[in-house]
Amino acid sequence: MTELVVISGKGGTGKTSVTASLAALAKSVVLADCDVDAADLHLVLEPSIVRRNRFSGGSRARIEPGHCTACGKCEELCRFDAIFHDGPGNGHAERTCRVDPIACEGCGVCFRFCAEGAIDFMPADNGEWFVSDTRCGPMVHAKLGIAEENSGKLVSILRTEAKRIAATGNLDLAIVDGSPGIGCPVIASITGADLVLIVTEPTLSGLHDLGRVTQLTKHFGIQALVCVNKWDLNADLADEIERSARGIGVEAVGRIRYDRSVTEAQIKKQALVEYSTAAAGEDLRSLWTCVCARLGD
Ligand code: SF4
Ligand code: SF4
Repeated sequence: MTELVVISGKGGTGKTSVTASLAALAKSVVLADCDVDAADLHLVLEPSIVRRNRFSGGSRARIEPGHCTACGKCEELCRFDAIFHDGPGNGHAERTCRVDPIACEGCGVCFRFCAEGAIDFMPADNGEWFVSDTRCGPMVHAKLGIAEENSGKLVSILRTEAKRIAATGNLDLAIVDGSPGIGCPVIASITGADLVLIVTEPTLSGLHDLGRVTQLTKHFGIQALVCVNKWDLNADLADEIERSARGIGVEAVGRIRYDRSVTEAQIKKQALVEYSTAAAGEDLRSLWTCVCARLGD
């Protein structure tokens, strides 16, 4: 099984739209939507959920007001300022301490040092992940709770499950819609992948982001390719991005023209290559041919 991860320097470059088209063109594929902070591959592929799983990214503290003597030790020790002396009163104190669940980073220090045993430290419920069927193949995806984090751990879970499904279903390719940027989720998206496709756009920030993202792929020793989406909005910058990519050893494998049909296809819940009149569909087919050739290298 080989694994192709589609990433971008930032959100909004058309990464998921490209991923959906590659998924539609691929045969024998498992998909993973690892852009868990802004998951939207499901909007096009309309997954039918066959299995749901809870996701816990770590533990959170919670003070049991009935046992708290309001000694203030936990408030003093919490380095994340997540404990406040404004909890409900009890027989010992007018006000007890209370943990702000959003601010709590789950370090566990308060739990360890509370002499009264008044603090629970339980796995947090941070969201759900799913195994689904789609018209393009099985898909693993997730939904984080509001303001929830630790998406790097969730990304790792999704990729591991996608590989397991590929192995048991004799599928020879996994296509991963990776996280944008260069933070923890994108590192979790690409480590150990066979090939990374960077989707960029012809803007100065696209040029700048390409440098940052390729530093990451180089650091992890992963072969990277680049394609310029909406290249005809600024042909000079598209040229410059491709020149810059070649200069750092990244092959430019495709240009996708600006196409108003992208939005129409999205409204109809179709990948661009499934939408009959889309001119950019030709560009995506050419891109897929190039990517397949590199996957076979
Ligand atoms: S350390 Fe325990 S008893 Fe003291 S304020 Fe915190 S929760 Fe209450
Ligand atoms: S677990 Fe850590 S971050 Fe959370 S309230 Fe306790 S000390 Fe603060």
